[in-house]
Amino acid sequence: MEVITVKTSRRIQMIDITAEVESVVRKSGIQNGIVVVFIPHTTAAITVNENADPSVKHDLEEFSKELVPHNWRWTHGEGNSDSHFKSSMFGPSLTLIVENGRIALGTWQGIIFAEFDGPRTRKVWIQVIGA
Ligand code: ZN
Repeated sequence: MEVITVKTSRRIQMIDITAEVESVVRKSGIQNGIVVVFIPHTTAAITVNENADPSVKHDLEEFSKELVPHNWRWTHGEGNSDSHFKSSMFGPSLTLIVENGRIALGTWQGIIFAEFDGPRTRKVWIQVIGA
């Protein structure tokens, strides 16, 4: 397993980590198979979405705040229940196809790390498995 570090700078923040994950796949030498990307945190997540127009990441950040408000009737004492909820909404892992040494993604797709309780230093666990 490879581990990469992501430093976030805002409470809610979408960060494109496609290049970092591609680099792990390249280093593995595996040409065809799958790559599993897992987030070992309860207030962050991972997703695939558009990485061409930055307004998409901005909208994901802003609407997630509206959809799951920080101030609600949460009971969890740490004051970050909205972060836990957002983390579960987006999910902790991705399984992607590796083909000819590259991650198979649609033209506009990128791998996006979703921070929901930043700023923090986060880990991303990556395992590349040959077919
Ligand atoms: Zn908590």
